[in-house]
Amino acid sequence: MIVMKFGGTSVGDAKMIRNTASVVLRMKDRKPVVVVSAVSGITNQLIELAKSAPEKMAEIYEAIKLRHIGIMKELGTTSGLLDNDLMGLKACADRIAGEGLNKETLDEMQSFGERMSTKIVAFEISRHGLKADAVNSFEIGLLTDENFGNAEPLEEAYALLGKHIRAMDSVPVVTGFLGKTRKGEITTLGRGGSDYSAAIVGAAIDAEEIQIWTDVNGIMSTDPKMVASAKTIESISFAEAAELAYFGAKVLHPKTIKPAMAKNIPVKVLNTFEPENKGTTIAKDPSNGKSIVKAIAYKKSSTLIIIQSTRMLGAYGFLSRLFRVFEKYRKSVDVISTSEVSVSLTIDSDENLESILEELESIADIKVLEGRTVISIVGEGMKSTPGISARTFSAIARQKVNIEMISQGASEINLTFVVDGSSTETAVKALHKEFFGE
Ligand code: ASP
Ligand code: MG
Repeated sequence: MIVMKFGGTSVGDAKMIRNTASVVLRMKDRKPVVVVSAVSGITNQLIELAKSAPEKMAEIYEAIKLRHIGIMKELGTTSGLLDNDLMGLKACADRIAGEGLNKETLDEMQSFGERMSTKIVAFEISRHGLKADAVNSFEIGLLTDENFGNAEPLEEAYALLGKHIRAMDSVPVVTGFLGKTRKGEITTLGRGGSDYSAAIVGAAIDAEEIQIWTDVNGIMSTDPKMVASAKTIESISFAEAAELAYFGAKVLHPKTIKPAMAKNIPVKVLNTFEPENKGTTIAKDPSNGKSIVKAIAYKKSSTLIIIQSTRMLGAYGFLSRLFRVFEKYRKSVDVISTSEVSVSLTIDSDENLESILEELESIADIKVLEGRTVISIVGEGMKSTPGISARTFSAIARQKVNIEMISQGASEINLTFVVDGSSTETAVKALHKEFFGE
C-alpha cells in the first residue's frame, strides 16, 4: 500500500482534479490510499467566513459554494454530491453568526474544505474506472488531543485508522488536515497539515511509501523564487528534511517527517504538474552522500530576543525559568545560542509576544529585534567535513552582511544564523553560489 497526498493546487480546478485522478490510476497496482487538501484557497476563505460580520457571510458562503459547484459541473456531475456538506457549512456559519466564534467552531468551519474536496476527487477517480470512496479521517479513527487549530493525534489513532482503511475494498480518499477529540469535536492539525495527515495514515497502514504530490519538483537546494538556478535534491535523509522543513522549505509540513521516520517509510515529494519528474526521496539512508551541503533554507519575519543577566553567572535554574515562560505561552523557540551571561533566541510569530516579554523582563534584561531572517545550511556531510563554517561566513562577509547570531545543532547537520531581513536575498544568493556554484 502507498499513500498519495495531493495538495490544494493539485485539486485546485477541474482540470487538475482530472490530472490527479490519472496520477492515482497509474499507481493502482500499488494499492493507493489517497489523502487530499481542500481546493486551493478554500481554507483561507472558510476562516474568512468564520471571522466575518454576519451580514458579509452570505456572500463568502456563495463564493465557496460556486467554486465547488463550478468544478463539479466541469467534471460533468450535477448530482447532490456536496449537498450535505454545503448544508452543514451553512448551518455552521449561522451558528457562528448567532453565538459568536470560538476555537471549536473555527476548526469545524475549516473542516468543510477537505470534506468537499475528497468527495469530488473520489468521484473523479471512480469515473476513471477505479472504485474510490471519500472518507472523513475524523470518522475512521483519527483521534486527537484538544489543542484546536494545532491538534496532535492520540496514540490509539494509528491502530484505529489502520484497521478501518485496510478493511476498505475501494480506494480510500481521506480528508487531510482533520481529526476529532474524544468528545467528538472536529480538530485541525495546523495550517498545511494535510502532509502530516498523509504521514499519520502512512504510519497507520505501514505504507510502503508516502507520496506528497505538490506543485514543484520536490525539495529544492534553495527557494527557486529567489535563486533561479536552485535545483531539485534527489535524495535526502529524514534528519536533513526535518531541518529543512522546519527552517523554511515550504514544500513539506515539518511534522510530516516524524511518523514516517518512526516506521522507516520513505517519503517522496513529487510534482502533479510534471508527474514524470523524479522529485525528492526522503529516506533513512539517502543514496547520494556526495554533496556536503544539501540545501539552504531561510525563514523570514523572525523575532530575535536577546536576554542578558549577570544573575546567570554560575547560577543554576536560570535557563529553566526562562524557558518556562515560552512553555507557558506554547511558543516554540527556533534557534538558541547561549553564553555565560546571555541567551539569544528566535521565535517565528509575534503571538503573545507582549506577555512573554513582560515576564522575561522580570527575570533579565531584554532586547528585541524584529524582522530578522534565520538562514540554515543543511547537510549530513557537514559533520565530517572541515571548513564549512569558514566558507559560509566568508561568503557572507564578502557581501558585507552582518551576522547577529550563530548556532549549530548538536547533530552538526545544520549551521544556522540570523541576519537582518533586508539582507536575506544577498545572503542566500551568496551561499548558493558558494556551495552549488551558481
Ligand atoms: N487545507 C489546509 C490548509 O490550507 C491543509 C492543507 O492544505 O494541508 O492549511
Ligand atoms: Mg501544503
